[in-house]
Amino acid sequence: MTTQNTTLERTVPVFLRRPRTPSHPAVADIDGLNERFEAAHPETIIRWAVDAFGDSLCLTTSFQDTLLVDLATGVDPEVEVVFLDTGFHFAETLRVARRAQARYRLNLRVERPDADAADVWADGQAACCGSRKVELLDRALAGRAAWMSGLRRDDGPQRARTPIVEVDRRGLVKINPLAAWPAAEADRHVAEHDVIRNPLFADGFTSVGCWPCTERPLDETDPRSGRWADSAKTECGLHL
Ligand code: SF4
Repeated sequence: MTTQNTTLERTVPVFLRRPRTPSHPAVADIDGLNERFEAAHPETIIRWAVDAFGDSLCLTTSFQDTLLVDLATGVDPEVEVVFLDTGFHFAETLRVARRAQARYRLNLRVERPDADAADVWADGQAACCGSRKVELLDRALAGRAAWMSGLRRDDGPQRARTPIVEVDRRGLVKINPLAAWPAAEADRHVAEHDVIRNPLFADGFTSVGCWPCTERPLDETDPRSGRWADSAKTECGLHL
């Protein structure tokens, strides 16, 4: 029998209709996990995630740097690394990806938009992020139980309350191993392990996304203030 969509179903985003209940027994006590990991080294958090989720775990990176990649592949060299190739990355970002691939011999999965994906110029930023980022991530996470991201609380004010373990809009477990890591310790790891950084950071950028939507910061207190600087948009939708 064919089911006819109601107006509500057509207009309300799917994620708003789904409860954010922990989907896996490993996160039954999610508050306890966040408390336990608040002062933990990222490697400890990643080790827990690898043990808890095994092959159902992947990590995502935008190749602003390879900090999370460096830490995660140190724990599990086979962990799947997902890169969303929007078609609008800076050449510098793609070079970071190539260098990382060569250095870490990544189990790399590159997702690319369909030929008819929305375009930032013709369709606007919301539609473009939807089909060049969010849809690609949905595709990459199909069948997964958990994923890791490199979100940090010091990325900017909108991310200041990022938890270390959370449940995403799909009901998947999302782990942010770098969220609470003090910047001084992260910087030390970057220097000691020669972590690859996007050269655009040496050219005044403090956050790097797609080139049509990334400028140098407009507000020196907000590293992400150069992202979608001509609009009120602050996030692409990947981290809902
Ligand atoms: S950041 Fe800009 S170019 Fe990249 S997917 Fe979003 S709207 Fe499109």
